[in-house]
Formats: sequence, C-alpha cells, structure tokens
Amino acid sequence: MTTVRTTCPYCGVGCGLLATPEGTIKGDPDHPANAGRLCSKGAALAETIDLEGRLLSPRIKGRPAGWDTALDLVAARFAAAIHTHGPDSVAFYVSGQLLSEDYYVANKLMKGFIGSANIDTNSRLCMASSVAGHKRAFGADTVPGTYTDLDQAELIVLTGSNLAWCHPVLFQRILAARAARPALKIITIDPRRTATSAASDLHLAIRPNGDTTLFGSLLSEIVRRGAVDRDYVAAHVSGFEQTVDAARAMNPDDTGLPADDIRRFHDMWIGAEKVVTVFSQGVNQSLGGTDKVNAILNCHLATGRIGRPGMGPFSVTGQPNAMGGREVGGLANTLACHLEIENPTHRKAVQQAWRSPTICTKPGLKAVDLFRACESGRIKALWIMGTNPAVSLPDADSVSRAIARVDFTVVSEVVNRTDTSILTDVQLPATAWGEKTGTVTNSERRISLQRAFLPAPGETRPDWQIICEVARRMGWGDAFAFDSPAAIFREHAALSGRAAALGRDFDISGLADISDAEYAALAPVQWPVTSRAAGTERFFAQGGFFHADGKARMVPVSAMPVPADTAQTLCLNTGRIRDQWHTMTRSGKSARLNQNQAEPFAEIHPKDARFLGVADAELLKIESARGQAVVRAKITDGIGPGALFVPMHWSNTHAPTGRINACIPAVTDPVSGQPASKAVQVRACRFTPHWYGFAASARAMSPGLAYSAVARTATGWRCELAGNAAPDNWEDQARRILNLDTGGVSVMRDPARGTVRIAIHQGAVLKGVFFASPRPIRVARELAISRINRDVSALVALAGLPMSDQPDPGPIVCACFNVGAHAIHDAIRHGATSVEAVGKCTAAGTNCGSCKPDLQALIDARPTRSAAEQEEIRCHVQPM
Ligand code: SF4
Repeated sequence: MTTVRTTCPYCGVGCGLLATPEGTIKGDPDHPANAGRLCSKGAALAETIDLEGRLLSPRIKGRPAGWDTALDLVAARFAAAIHTHGPDSVAFYVSGQLLSEDYYVANKLMKGFIGSANIDTNSRLCMASSVAGHKRAFGADTVPGTYTDLDQAELIVLTGSNLAWCHPVLFQRILAARAARPALKIITIDPRRTATSAASDLHLAIRPNGDTTLFGSLLSEIVRRGAVDRDYVAAHVSGFEQTVDAARAMNPDDTGLPADDIRRFHDMWIGAEKVVTVFSQGVNQSLGGTDKVNAILNCHLATGRIGRPGMGPFSVTGQPNAMGGREVGGLANTLACHLEIENPTHRKAVQQAWRSPTICTKPGLKAVDLFRACESGRIKALWIMGTNPAVSLPDADSVSRAIARVDFTVVSEVVNRTDTSILTDVQLPATAWGEKTGTVTNSERRISLQRAFLPAPGETRPDWQIICEVARRMGWGDAFAFDSPAAIFREHAALSGRAAALGRDFDISGLADISDAEYAALAPVQWPVTSRAAGTERFFAQGGFFHADGKARMVPVSAMPVPADTAQTLCLNTGRIRDQWHTMTRSGKSARLNQNQAEPFAEIHPKDARFLGVADAELLKIESARGQAVVRAKITDGIGPGALFVPMHWSNTHAPTGRINACIPAVTDPVSGQPASKAVQVRACRFTPHWYGFAASARAMSPGLAYSAVARTATGWRCELAGNAAPDNWEDQARRILNLDTGGVSVMRDPARGTVRIAIHQGAVLKGVFFASPRPIRVARELAISRINRDVSALVALAGLPMSDQPDPGPIVCACFNVGAHAIHDAIRHGATSVEAVGKCTAAGTNCGSCKPDLQALIDARPTRSAAEQEEIRCHVQPM
C-alpha cells in the first residue's frame, strides 16, 4: 500500500496523518502538531471518504451540465453584472476549508482583476476578532507562540475555549504535560462546566461577557503588585498608562465571580512567569470580541510574557486553514501576505506583482454585511465556495432568503445537497479532502501539505482549477495560467518576500523557488521561512513589532455590559460538540461519530427547567425575534441559572428544527465585523408534541414531522421523532418514517399507556423498528440499532429491552471502542476511580483519548449523585 502523508481536514490543530488509497488513516508520528495522536474525529476519517452524497458533475438549475457550459455561464454572468453594475455588484464567500492555493487565486481574481474586495470567508465567524486584536496590538496578525509553549508553561489559562472537545489533541498534549510535570496548572474560564473545566485546577464560571473585566482586573493587579516588566514596556510597548487607567475603571464584581476566585486567578497568573493564555471562539464570537482579545494581550505585554518559551497569548483557530486564509488575504479587509488594502504602497506592490489591471481600493463587505447586500439586491452575482452559510451564519433564515434573492448564484461543493446548495443556480463539483493537494496553516503558523491519496471522482476538479478557468473565461488567462498548486504556492511565496520588504510579518520567500518535487515533499514548517532562516518558533521576545515605530500597543478597553437577568429570557450560548464538525457534511457520515450525541440539545439549569415545566429528555422550543428552534432538553447544573447552551452543528439535512443559528441576531463586533454568537437573549418554553418517537431503519429516513433528528448508524439510520397529531394509521406512519414500503409488519400496542411499537421484517431479517409514546421514548437505542439487518424475532425487536445475553451499552461515550455509559458506570461502581482504571476495565479512552475528560466527569459526578439519579441513568432502558 502507498502511504501518503497528509493533514486532518477538521480543526486548526492541524494534525498530520498517514493515509492510504485503501482507506487506512492513522496519526503521523513524525508530524510536530500531533506526534501520531488523533482525536475521535480524525480517527474516524476513514468512514467519511466514500462517495455517498457527493456532487460528481456540474449542475445548472438542478440539471446535469458539462463543465464548459457551466464555467462559461459563471464567467458570463459575473462579467455581465460587473459591466452593468460595477465590480462591487459581485461577491465571493469562501471558506477555511479551502487550501491556501485555492484561497490565493480566489482572492487574486476578486481583488486584483474584478477590482472589488467583496470576498469574505467563513473564518470571519471564527477568528476575525483575534486578527483585529493582533493587528491593533502587534501591527500585524501574528500568532507569537508555538505548541511547544504548552509543554513548557507553568500555567495555562483557557478562556472561551472548550479545548477538550474542540481541539482535543492539544488538550491531550496539555494533560500529558501536566502528568509529566504536576506543577503545571490549568485554569478554565467559561460560564459553563465542560469537559475542559472538569480537568482543570480552577474553573472560573464567569458571567457571559465578563472576560474583559477579568483581564482588566488582572492588569490592575499586575500594576499594584509591581509585576510590570518595566524594561520591556519602556523599550517595546506604548499605551501603557491609558490602558491601566481604563482597566482600573472596571469593577471585578461584574464578572460574577467570588472575590476569592478572582484573587486565586490573580495569584496564579502573576505568580507563574511562564503563562500561556489560550483563547478561541468564546472570546472571538462576541460583540466586544476584539476588546476581549486586547484585554488578554495587554496583560502579556505589560509583563513581557510573550515570545519566550512557555509563555504568551495564543489564539487557536477553529478551521484547518483559517490561518492560511488570513495569509492569502481571504478576509474582505486585507490583501495577500498580510498587506493592507488601505495602504497605497501595499496596493501598488500587490498590483505590480500580479500585473493586474486594477486593485481594490477599499475594504469589501464582511460576511454579515455581504449577505445583507444580497438581500437588498446590491449583489447581483454570488459565488460560495466550500461552506454552508444557510446554516452557519447568524440569522440563518434571512441568509437563506438573501441567497435566494441574488440574480445569479454559484456554489462550489463536494456535497450533493446542502441547505445552501439547494438555493443556488449552478453547482460546481469540487474535489474533497483526500482528493486534492495544497497547503494549510495551523494555529502555530505551521504550513503543512494536504496531499491527495484518492483519485478525483466523477467530474470533480480542484477549487484552484475551477477559479482559474473562470478567470480565463473572463479574459485574464495569462495571470491565472497555473498548471499546479505548486506554481500558485511559488507566486504566493514570492509575493510574501515583497510584503516582508514592506515590513510585514508573513514571509515565506525562502520557498519562492521551490521545485514541483520539493513542493510534493514539503515537510511541515513554521513561517517565517526566509532565505536565511527556515522556520521561526516565536515572535516578540525582543520586541520587533510591526507598527511603524516597532512598538506594540496596549489598547485601553472598556468593560462589556453583562446580559441582564430577566424572568422572561435566557442567555443563549452556542458552541461545538466533541464528535461533530461544523454543519456535519463530513463528520455526519460517520456512524461512530453520531453515537455520542445523535440529536440537537439544549443544556438548561434545573431551576429554569422547573420554571418552564420541562423535564429531562422533553423538547424545548427556543425563540428570538429572528427565528426559532426545537431541541432536546438536557437538564444539568453544569450550566448556570438563566443560561442555555446549544450546539451549532445541525442543519435541515439532519434536524430541520435544530438550526440554532436561526435564533441568533446578525450583530457584529464593531472592530472585527465578527458576528456575536454568544450571550444572545432568547425565550424558551416546553414544546409539547402529541407523541414522541424513536426509529431505526436500514434505509435513509426523512420524516418531515414537528421534530426529527436523523443520524447515520452502523446498520443504517436512526431517528428521534415527535409529532403534533396522532396519525390515522400507525402502521402507514411507521412505513413512511422507516422508508420501508414492503416487508411484514408486527405491531404491539398498549392502549392504557398510549404506546405503539412496530417492527418490519423482510423474511426473518429485521429492517426497521419504530416506537411511539406520549412520553419521551425510553428504549435501548444502541441495541435497537444493532438489531437492524439481523435475524431477530418480532418479540425481541419490539421489547426494546436488552436480552440476558445482550447487555445494553447505553449512550456511547467512547466512540473508538463503542463503550457506553452503562458499562462505564458499572466499572466505576466496581471500584475504577481513575480514567486509567476505567480504561483497563472497558478499553474506553485507550485509543484517541478524546473521551478521557468525559470519563473523568463521570467519575467525578458519581459520588454526588443521589440513588434516584443513579437509577435515572440506569433507566435509559425502561419499558414504555
Ligand atoms: Fe483533526 Fe482532531 Fe487533530 Fe483537530 S485535533 S486536527 S480534528 S485529529
């Protein structure tokens, strides 16, 4: 077998992989980002590379079309819009899933040839506030540190980051560092109890938006205790006095934290010189996200704790190539190579390098404004590449309407049908991860090559080729005559040399003459890479900032208002779960990854649940002025009173009522333009269906009911259901839901309880099973799923209970080895009181380790649970 070195397509950790065309995928032991480790998502990649659901040929208005016809149409419609309405009448909305070479040519086409900056990326939703904060403080979007700082730190502060779930390999690295060196301490700042906070030495359950004040109070305390690095500040920093004055004006009580906790945080942060402060979407996705970032950077600058081993602020990115997008100018307010649109010298340098007829002269529309311009009719032609804004953007229903309103819309996609693609006129089939080659940059500025290890299926083409073909048809063939991603990379690298000469940080000019063979063999390398030095680990230990005077700026920031407590509303936070990625178009294909959380849910505090009259596992309706969602209620004291947490992954494809971004208003940080997806005021109430249901089938299901959530399983599909009215005929209803027209039906009804159970067999083989009840369904789901496509009697199938020879694993916790909560509880009950001991008994957590924090949480929770709660856990299996 030919083994190919490549990188993971999911998060910004950027783990290296070893992949084969036969579909074996393992961690790359030689990649510096992960040293062979993978999380559950990376470990399940092999389950996602089949061609089911792929877009394999171009389509126009839903009909198959040839490439030439489709590309001619795209070029002609964009050219016509530009001719009639000007360059700013067209827009691209691109993605952190694109490779840097794809991103580079898209940016070049829009900014240097069309002459508009109306290209923005879904990375705007992820880290635009970090970019803006870096630029304000450092003069450039520079991530100063490196992952090895996490190994060397004395204290790691995680703020706005559920690292255990969102960047699991980095979190495992931190836990391994602490196991080897117990003096390392971890603080998590998060309103919610998470797998990350459970493994931390101190959890600060801060009020939403309290971060700016907490770091302001830290800065005041740094000054009060004489911990300022006066020499560093004098030599390398300006804005110190004003910033400290602003910090002193903040009231630490506004954080909602007990004074003792704040003092402990100050003691630990000031007392440990080697501090890394890791921040992510919890900080960025906020109305004051940029200020939050600068509040963190201010503390590191005041103490000179930056750019030296084991210390510094560290923004971790969500997407695999969010950093690459920043480098090529994928954001509407930057040029390639960290050059600035507003700077005439920078514009001239780029235009000269590109020999382009024009260059944009002002920033373009950022994501939210871009779709508003679509809705108002200003945008006449829109090209979306590799992203699903109808699900992922705030005010998602308006975004869907906006896309539908544009005169001409194109999507480059790998998936046959997404919430976005169904709204577009032209669908262009792009090669997917594993089929294309190009570079990505991870959170520590490390550039790695994603290499193809599979053939391009059907008529799919790499994004860079599609873009270049459209550019050629628009009359700019010479400037887009690239014959390989290597050729694009060389042009980008050469341009970075010009940028460096203008004082920019991003410099990979040492790779400008790389041959095709050298590119194909490119080893992971951190930028900058100049002709003098290959890879620089850290920035700013000796100053050298990118403002004109070479100094950093401390930025005075003000406290953000914390959400008001009202009896009518709850404060909604959105986020990610451990085993899914974005809108689930890839991770949703893996049966393994669907086991831990198979439907959208809301975490709600017991007090609020009581107030709303909603019980655990009932449905909750969440509403704002923008839209509504219906999700499963999960009652937990891990979330504070007055708050809700809902994951952002579910789309129409998997759970039509689970699109939580439909409830999020499209308001943005005034500096970065990043939408605020945190701390949104919503109303919630119990959603009372006529019946609840659960179904497992050998065939794909699409029930179209008041509530449904479908997920892939190892034997077919599963579906959680709820209906607003009893059907006339339950048998017909079950057949329709299970998508099984034929086969023998067995029905069991209990009129006293109002329950219905239906099994459909073909011969002796069970093909589908359906349960309905006036109350939330309690059946052994994993068992019911495992019985599909097997020779199982109707009695066993309809029992919904484990048989004596087939214990019920319960909800799956360890996705690698299918270990369920019941098995883990049994192990704990029999004396396994450490993660390692649970692993020895059950194998849980002994492969990728992503579930280790969840195992720890189960161990920690056990002694505090009452006998009744323990029984409730066991009673996940219960007769209806
Ligand atoms: Fe992929 Fe997981 Fe590594 Fe992120 S942490 S890059 S999702 S394997």
